Amino acid sequence: MTDEKLSDEPQGKTDLKGEPILEALREVLAEARELDGGEVASYIPQLSSADPSQVGLALVGVYGRTFEAGDSRVPFTIQSVSKPFVYALALEKLGIESVMERVGVEPSGEPFNAISLDADSGRPMNPMINAGAIVVASLVSDDEILEGLGAFAGHPLEVDDAVLQSELETGHRNRALAHLALAAGVLGSTVDEATERYFRQCSLIVTALDVATMAATLANAGRNPLTDEQVVSETVARWTCAVMASCGMYDASGDWLARVGLPAKSGVGGGIVAVDPGVFGVGTFSAPLDAQGNSVRGRAMLTSLSRSYGLHAFAHPTVKFQPPE
Ligand code: GLN
Repeated sequence: MTDEKLSDEPQGKTDLKGEPILEALREVLAEARELDGGEVASYIPQLSSADPSQVGLALVGVYGRTFEAGDSRVPFTIQSVSKPFVYALALEKLGIESVMERVGVEPSGEPFNAISLDADSGRPMNPMINAGAIVVASLVSDDEILEGLGAFAGHPLEVDDAVLQSELETGHRNRALAHLALAAGVLGSTVDEATERYFRQCSLIVTALDVATMAATLANAGRNPLTDEQVVSETVARWTCAVMASCGMYDASGDWLARVGLPAKSGVGGGIVAVDPGVFGVGTFSAPLDAQGNSVRGRAMLTSLSRSYGLHAFAHPTVKFQPPE
């Protein structure tokens, strides 16, 4: 049953083939469906209308093969899953060092909406928490975000206006973070521009298949495997994956890296993306969240895939994605 090519691929990439992967996805999804627990986010009122029973999973290989299980095409808002991708666009536009002057790459060990600023410079600790993501949003334009995230997903994305409105009405803490960044001299625009742009990027509508494609673009050295468009450079894709690995799951990032071992990013809309560089990107959707704001079933599905198929970044390479006989 192990018909994956595990070696001798051009450019060191791994092709994925066939039924075993689809079966694996269906199996972990069926297990995850049984799980209870978690709460659908309600601090942005519009998010609380999500159906907690839906569960989706999609995997896109770096050669463009796609595998889907469950509600992989159910729309949800991207929320913080947008952060690594907008960060990558800013790195591509301005260069790594210039972005580093405004946002660091150190894990904060704190919740997503924490006031995590470096004591000396006032820079947000990293771009995966709100403070950093708002600064990143201040460095790119609305159009660059819309076009860039569409290029990652392989098709144009649209904004959920009701969610955007809800965020605009309730996002006072995010405005406070933007004010602090402005005071520290690291914000690249006005407070209103930065926060509205950030709320808009969070309100983009995606599916598990879309976010899997976005992750696969990072896995494929910045080139979208479905459209063949080079969205960001290999250096930017690598840098972004590294920052996701250390900071992507908020205050659960260390535990996640040790247990699951894949660069990943979650969002309060219920999405999670994970990247296996050179192999695939995976996207999950299920709305109920744990105390850290990570999807309970998404976390379970990715943990199970990683354990069963040896996907951990620090596992020995010979165990990489070989579904058992
Ligand atoms: N728009 C949300 C916020 O900033 C996104 C947070 C998230 O997904 N963790 O509050």
